[in-house]
Amino acid sequence: MGLPLIIVHGGAGAWKDDRIPIGLENVEKAAIAGFQVLEEGGSALDAAEVCTLFMESCGNLNAGAGARSNLDGVKELDAMIIDGSSLTFGSVAAVTGILNPVSLARYILEKTDYAFFAGDNARRVYEQMIAEGYREETGDGIIRSPIDFETGDTVGCVTVDSEGRIAATSSTGGISNKMPGRVGDSPVMGAGAFANEVAGATATGWGEHIMRVLLTRMVVLHVEQGSSPMTASEEGMKFFQEKTGSEAGVVAADKNGNYGWSTNAKAMPTVVISGDRTNIEKHLR
Ligand code: ASP
Repeated sequence: MGLPLIIVHGGAGAWKDDRIPIGLENVEKAAIAGFQVLEEGGSALDAAEVCTLFMESCGNLNAGAGARSNLDGVKELDAMIIDGSSLTFGSVAAVTGILNPVSLARYILEKTDYAFFAGDNARRVYEQMIAEGYREETGDGIIRSPIDFETGDTVGCVTVDSEGRIAATSSTGGISNKMPGRVGDSPVMGAGAFANEVAGATATGWGEHIMRVLLTRMVVLHVEQGSSPMTASEEGMKFFQEKTGSEAGVVAADKNGNYGWSTNAKAMPTVVISGDRTNIEKHLR
């Protein structure tokens, strides 16, 4: 336990055994990239973006470059970023032709009067973002990270900076064989992720069912009512399982650096770094 803190997952699901170490390795690299931002005094929001950028850019997780395609063979991406300290978010749904929707979500949060863009017009906002120089693309269409990094399933993280500010993200290509236009929980505030000034959580799994119970809002509410993030994650997953019988996972953290996670899936590669860089925990589920 301790601040700053980052908790990152690489998606809950029926991971093939040989892919689990690859997933865990990439989640660890993403966690280190995000933690470096926190160590250098960056905000929870900065760290959450950098961590998620890594996972979208690595090509080994179901987000960004590595995202699953829809039935038309197209990568339609959903993503969200939340600034818990101001209770604001930016989201994109079913956006195509870009690799880093988390940065677009942050642009929407910070630079527009809106919160949520979808489809082709979300890509127009992305083009506006690049034209304005808010973020820079490298030659291969990946957004340049403010820190250097080598360049599954839905990915997400919760970050808490040294001042106790919380941010959360989610980013995905969605479920296997999805119909074009289908959007899951990942860009939906309170479903795929949620953060406020007390705690944050991000979810992965069967989006249609995660939205039914607003899984991450429920987990944060449990923390607000006195549960630890670990107990809150377990309580949230128990309710989810009872109501839907479906599969999901959630990770959570509070402003004091307590954290937790829970899943009923076969695997959910998860990495936590808290206090200092040597304090790394890795979990397969
Ligand atoms: N939650 C994502 C969705 O339903 C999928 C996942 O977590 O793998 O789009």
